[in-house]
Amino acid sequence: MDAQTDTRSETRTVNLILLGPPGAGKGTQARILMEERGLTQLSTGDMLRAAVAAGTDAGKAAKAVMEAGGLVSDEIVVAIVDDKLAEEKSGPGVIFDGFPRTAAQAESLDALLAKHGMQLDAVVSMEVDDDAMVGRVSGRYTCGGCGEGYHDAAKVPRTEGVCDKCGGSDFKRRADDNAETVRARLEAYHADTAPLIAHYAATGKLKTVDAMKDIDDVTAAIRAAI
Ligand code: ADP
Ligand code: ADP
Ligand code: ZN
Repeated sequence: MDAQTDTRSETRTVNLILLGPPGAGKGTQARILMEERGLTQLSTGDMLRAAVAAGTDAGKAAKAVMEAGGLVSDEIVVAIVDDKLAEEKSGPGVIFDGFPRTAAQAESLDALLAKHGMQLDAVVSMEVDDDAMVGRVSGRYTCGGCGEGYHDAAKVPRTEGVCDKCGGSDFKRRADDNAETVRARLEAYHADTAPLIAHYAATGKLKTVDAMKDIDDVTAAIRAAI
């Protein structure tokens, strides 16, 4: 491969979906890919939490559903993704984290990508054991300053109480990250989201990674897959 081809392959646009239940590591891997390749993380969960915090109409409608671990309406979620894609369409690529979560959202995504002149390159299914997800999600916390994710056992800051990335010391836990709500979210995943694996397998874009491995190993598997 000559130098010119090399450069092009490193900088080409990549749009991908990270598919997996709560705790699979979608946010963790999306942030790593964002840093490595300049891709934009499009997390509908983060955008919905921002809408709830800002008290917008969408946020007001979403709040109780999110607290109970249910799925916010397709209409609300698709509208926020549409707005975000309008900003990102000429960027280096988007990592969809937590979207689509229903068959209707997957259909809407196709329409939105066409509308914004974008294409989908890969769908990475992150395979995990449900039982382990309760521990992952219950132990999750994030830096309030920069959003870096941590875990009580699997990923602690190098210096206790100090964020590796920004030096901040204000950490947050999500209200919905408790054992009871995780069970409801896992049920929603199996009922509404898991069928998308077969849907994307049929398009030939599906890649599967073992997301029970350590964070670095999962990153390597995703890199190889895309
Ligand atoms: P998701 O976005 O899929 O819900 P996160 O990326 O937030 O998942 O990860 C959930 C929790 O598990 C976080 O606390 C994170 O630090 C931790 N985690 C992520 N990937 C792994 C992994 N491969 N092994 C162990 N813990 C992990
Ligand atoms: P996780 O992957 O850890 O379950 P997210 O941050 O992706 O968490 O989502 C948190 C909550 O936000 C979900 O339980 C759901 O209520 C809502 N949500 C996020 N994305 C979507 C979506 N695409 N469709 C419907 N609801 C969503
Ligand atoms: Zn930080």
